[in-house]
Amino acid sequence: GVPRGLTTATAIEEPIQPPVQVNHTQLLINGQFVDSASGRTFPTLDPRTGELIAHVAEGDVEDVNRAVIAARKAFDGGPWPKMTGYQRSCILYRFADLIEKHNDEIAALETWDNGKPYEQAAKAEIPTLARLMRYYAGWADKIHGLIVPADSPHHVQVLHEPIGVAGQIIPWNFPLLMFAWKVGPALACGNTIVLKTAEQTPLSALLVSKLFHEAGLPDGVLNVISGFGPTAGAALASHMDVDKLAFTGSTDTGKIVLELAARSNLKPVTLELGGKSPIIVMDDADIDQAVEVAHFALFFNQGQCCCAGSRTFVHERVYDEFVEKSKARALKRVVGDPFRKGVEQGPQIDEEQFSKILHYIKSGVDSGATLVTGGDRIGSKGYYIQPTIFSDVEDEMKIAKEEIFGPVQSILKFKDVNEVIQRANTTRYGLAAGVFTHNLNAANTFMRALRAGTVWINCYDVFDAAIPFGGYKMSGNGREKGIDSLKNYLQVKAVVTPLKNPAWL
Ligand code: NAD
Repeated sequence: GVPRGLTTATAIEEPIQPPVQVNHTQLLINGQFVDSASGRTFPTLDPRTGELIAHVAEGDVEDVNRAVIAARKAFDGGPWPKMTGYQRSCILYRFADLIEKHNDEIAALETWDNGKPYEQAAKAEIPTLARLMRYYAGWADKIHGLIVPADSPHHVQVLHEPIGVAGQIIPWNFPLLMFAWKVGPALACGNTIVLKTAEQTPLSALLVSKLFHEAGLPDGVLNVISGFGPTAGAALASHMDVDKLAFTGSTDTGKIVLELAARSNLKPVTLELGGKSPIIVMDDADIDQAVEVAHFALFFNQGQCCCAGSRTFVHERVYDEFVEKSKARALKRVVGDPFRKGVEQGPQIDEEQFSKILHYIKSGVDSGATLVTGGDRIGSKGYYIQPTIFSDVEDEMKIAKEEIFGPVQSILKFKDVNEVIQRANTTRYGLAAGVFTHNLNAANTFMRALRAGTVWINCYDVFDAAIPFGGYKMSGNGREKGIDSLKNYLQVKAVVTPLKNPAWL
């Protein structure tokens, strides 16, 4: 039957057979699926059980070299930048159509490798992948430079050219959405790509990249390397023939890749990193709505979101009510096999994240926060964690400062607007923020004062292909999606010619 409320362990112990097969486990280089040069593979595991899904080719330095050579060939005099924007857009549109045609298969693979609820993947994420591709297809034939007037008699053109070979390193929390945010703008602008997937989730990018070739993408334009960060990832970040690097992941790794890029060829780097995003609930807010949205903002995707609302500041006048209602909502959360209908929360991605989250929960208890609900694993295998809430959380506690990346909500108390602005901004991060109030003046104050790349007012996690996303401070630099994302993948060239015809001077 349809699960109600927090799942019992038994619903989890018998995993449902995923309705999909794994057909692609090799590296995708120059349009061909190939083994790694070393012949090595690594296992990708099912987060529901910790058991093997498939052995995947393990890319390393030599494979990255081969992929960069293929991408260079497709770029330097190759077909991709020579095509008209319209021709490129047609391929992106055909790819979007193929994504829709294979929606359920792609979603099932994403769920199997990542653990996210199948309904979330099938109804939201894979359709969004198609939407993002159409958004960038729309840009491909609208990218152009300009002509600028100069002080002297010169004809001055500013050309917007693709940068060249883009290296892209993506994380495991939204494997295909991160694929789309990176690949879409790079291809629309005429670049070629070597993309390294996260070692936890290599499968879905291989499947969709095969569909991309079916849609007419020329060989070598998009190369996909499965493998680990310190080997394949580092090789890409430090490659002398990679012209641009885009990275999403942890702030610590962001520092490493930035340094590798600087030490090699000074390639420009865009970074989308971690967060500790505040949500502020004023005493005039619609409390039921705020409870529901703040719950979603934290627990969505098993809490594995860079912009998770992980510090919920609630005005003292509504604090107790908010905590009680949040507890009731968390107890109703349906945790279970992500392939089961009605499930809201699946397992965490892997053993490492699972134990890290349980350590943070222990640290919350040890530091004196009140454990309102949850706090433990569910079942005895796989990586399921109870929806967990702490109240009486203080700013200096570890759970209020560090990124937990799991289903652990921290609720803090505040008294007035200036105090909460100052506390919300006291973080090294600045990715997102949420505000719940009906007071226009308060909303206007918050939207200006909060140092974050996105401020959601009376909502949270509202994304759109056209809305730019990115961080202040140590949450990164550059913006993805929207018109701003194109700048990451364009070179600017000024062309100056004297005007010589006296008849026109
Ligand atoms: P990570 O930053 O280590 O991994 C992200 C990507 O970087 C992966 O593809 C990985 O292989 C690659 N990578 C790792 N080390 C590298 C290196 N030395 N050189 C080049 N590439 C390298 O993240 P993780 O270890 O998977 O997760 C740890 C934490 O990162 C999480 O707990 C969470 O806080 C954060 N995280 C953030 C996001 C986000 O969307 N901003 C996504 C995933 C994880």
